[in-house]
Amino acid sequence: MALIVHKYGGTSMGSTERIRNVAKRVAKWARAGHQMVVVPSAMSGETNRLLGLAKELSPESTTPELQRELDMIASTGEQVSVGLLAIALQAEGMQAVSYAGWQVPIATDMAYTKARIQSIDDLRVRADLAAGKVVIITGFQGVDANGNITTLGRGGSDTSAVAVAAAMKADECLIFTDVDGVYTTDPRIVPEARRLHTISFEEMLEMASLGSKVLQIRSVEFAGKYRVPMRVLSSFTPWDIPIAEESKSGTLITFEEDEKMEQAVVSGIAFNRDEAKISLLGVPDKPGIAYAILGPVAEANIDVDVIIQNIGHDGRTDFSFTVHRNDYNRTMELLKATVVPQTGAASLSGDPKICKVSIVGIGMRSHVGVASKMFCALSEEGINIQMITTSEIKTSVVIDEKYMELAVRALHKAFDLELAGE
Ligand code: ASP
Ligand code: MG
Repeated sequence: MALIVHKYGGTSMGSTERIRNVAKRVAKWARAGHQMVVVPSAMSGETNRLLGLAKELSPESTTPELQRELDMIASTGEQVSVGLLAIALQAEGMQAVSYAGWQVPIATDMAYTKARIQSIDDLRVRADLAAGKVVIITGFQGVDANGNITTLGRGGSDTSAVAVAAAMKADECLIFTDVDGVYTTDPRIVPEARRLHTISFEEMLEMASLGSKVLQIRSVEFAGKYRVPMRVLSSFTPWDIPIAEESKSGTLITFEEDEKMEQAVVSGIAFNRDEAKISLLGVPDKPGIAYAILGPVAEANIDVDVIIQNIGHDGRTDFSFTVHRNDYNRTMELLKATVVPQTGAASLSGDPKICKVSIVGIGMRSHVGVASKMFCALSEEGINIQMITTSEIKTSVVIDEKYMELAVRALHKAFDLELAGE
């Protein structure tokens, strides 16, 4: 008998019919003798609908007072889900009980709309499990020290599930979703993309942060920190497939790197269209210039990703960086108003139509020439690279957005990823 956490995404919970299917699947696991904790998302589209209502009344919800109410509203989607799933399980003849985050409780900090989980008290849940009940806990929400409801950021149910699994030392956390695993890249762009049997947690972390939307990045961080065994799999298989088969499907996030290193240098291609590039040309090349430019940006709470500073000429240099596209206009205004006059930069330019394409693989640590192979593949397609950044296990390039699909396909082919996985 094992303690298993199942997480079901919004699509899997999208209708009462689908919820009935989830209930049957969970009941199958419980009847096989496992202790089951289930963490569902809101029904698909529900969180958007709820937040849309709030937006009709107040388009810019930036104050803490307004954000508190956003969490109050958005968290209800998950509350409906857990109740419906408990009813569906009871209709299957199972004992089941649902809890909101504050009832467990799942304690978070006070950062409304992007709170972080601090602790989970599993006493109540353990007692229910011991009494033979399936326990269903809301994804996405928690409670702060003052009893206010908080939410964990969009896609946060993944993190709820992994955090519950970590707190309860579950044997496995299964993330049921509308794709059947983690792919070498988005199959909508590269039809030859392959499902990976395993991916190391570090690679998954990069893939998640670079734009693969399969898992919320914080859930992967959690899994890594607490070494939670985690699998991403489809909720669209027949609910009654044998557990032995189901437990081997999808993609397992692993912590052993060695076996993987033998297999592939590059495991996946990630891409991200959410960034915009900003350049300050002809800034004085002197100590403190990076701080003079990026200090005010940081103070305005704008995240910066790729940063490049050129070699100086005649006492001047060029400085470029990327920000989230949503922050583009705000950053340009800020630079125009303060940084350009203060630094004496010759000019300011920006381009919101860029994208970042990355190759990811822990095998890159032990192989040379991986980045140059990437550059070669891009040059053969005539794609101009505007910025480059690397880490131990990834190389990213910033290119014109219109070449994104071409670049992803070329790289997928160059690294033989159509042969990856099974
Ligand atoms: N319902 C929330 C959202 O749509 C959380 C989740 O689905 O993971 O972002
Ligand atoms: Mg999700």
